[in-house]
Amino acid sequence: MSKFTKSLVAVLPFFWIASLNAQNEVYTESKTEIIADTTFVNLKNYSQDFIYDMKYATDGNFLKAKVYDCAECFLRLKTVEALVAANKEFMKKGFRIKLYDCYRPLDIQKKMWEIVSNPQYVADPKKGSIHNRGGAVDISLVDANGKELDMGTSFDFFGIEAGHNYTKLSKEIKSNRKFLKKIMIKNGFNSFDSEWWHYNLKSGLKDKVSNQKWDCN
Ligand SMILES: [Zn+2]
Repeated sequence: MSKFTKSLVAVLPFFWIASLNAQNEVYTESKTEIIADTTFVNLKNYSQDFIYDMKYATDGNFLKAKVYDCAECFLRLKTVEALVAANKEFMKKGFRIKLYDCYRPLDIQKKMWEIVSNPQYVADPKKGSIHNRGGAVDISLVDANGKELDMGTSFDFFGIEAGHNYTKLSKEIKSNRKFLKKIMIKNGFNSFDSEWWHYNLKSGLKDKVSNQKWDCN
């Protein structure tokens, strides 16, 4: 399969059980379904290698409100594929990605906007963000012991210290941020100047804002 075709479709294995009328015989058949790379999928169905710390599924965030029904990471398939590839590279070096936020349905963006109506902190739902398009992730890295690398500020810290251009940081912090950025960019993501944790999939910037309903079961 060419690289181009591979980037457009993915193979999703699944099983189905059919009932035959004549003999009422039940059999299981393995089939292969091809789905578009813009389809929303649950990351955990593609990889078990991520650490989850979904801040908006708890009230431990700057909104002081739990706005997600469950701590799942939904994204468009192409975002998942790029993220899994990046994580494999981190894992080869003894680290793995910790997730703070993934896809954010538009209704939840509206809810967040109601709590904090300030475009400095929350994207205006009228415009929507790449999180609403299924192409953005908020992440950090943990080492082999599960300890988070020091990135200089916490997630969702609103201040210049969280920016990639802030230089008054220790060598270690700068190198941790650089490491995260380098592998993410190599795998098709763009960094975001004012937030060290935010990455946008380059090919996902023009996808539609979406209001997918989450399956929390
Ligand atoms: Zn973000």
